[in-house]
Amino acid sequence: MWDFFFPSRCLACGKGERKQLGLCSCCLGQVQWQGLGGCIRCGRIGCRQGCVPPDHGYRRVLALAAYSGPWRSLVLALKNGRDLAVARQVAKQLVALAGQAGMSSPDVVTAPPGAGKVLWGRPLAAAMAGETAKLVEARLFNGLMRRPGRPAQVELDSCRRLEGLTEHLYLQNEHLVYGKAVWLVDDVFTTGGTAAACTEKLLAAGASGVWVIASAA
Ligand SMILES: [Zn+2]
Ligand SMILES: [Zn+2]
Repeated sequence: MWDFFFPSRCLACGKGERKQLGLCSCCLGQVQWQGLGGCIRCGRIGCRQGCVPPDHGYRRVLALAAYSGPWRSLVLALKNGRDLAVARQVAKQLVALAGQAGMSSPDVVTAPPGAGKVLWGRPLAAAMAGETAKLVEARLFNGLMRRPGRPAQVELDSCRRLEGLTEHLYLQNEHLVYGKAVWLVDDVFTTGGTAAACTEKLLAAGASGVWVIASAA
């Protein structure tokens, strides 16, 4: 609401003047960028061994920045539907990062099924996936679905979470991913449970490979 009155204010601190990606220079300076230096399994710099379940299935994770400080505030603001233009800019950064990492353009771009707040009628990850698909000229696949009644992710450890998620995920129009290289775009990569469960479904439908790109990890 507040940015209706101050559209150029930083989305993290609400005070500074926006410079890039919805952030002021002060907040930008505090962001811990991860990018190419991040672990290929979890996207994080300096992660510990065993950071994600070993059977995750995806080829690699690429994450823009650590989910902390101003970047966390920004992602939360975007999840609350604050600014679609900034979500587009974040997607653009992700595509640029994937290019630097030498990742080939995918055939298909998708996002995990959303929960909770939506951004202009779509969860943030789906909005970013849509933008990413446009940028890399790939097909947007929105057939990753979730059955209702799934227990809250936050209450489960990574193993049970994966179990619970896999049971509740299913694909619609799965022939669209058969033989395709898929980018799974997520807003926040945490335990890897969501990404692993989505990957499992995509590979079972015949996807040739799955790469995860996330705005935060
Ligand atoms: Zn700021
Ligand atoms: Zn790791």
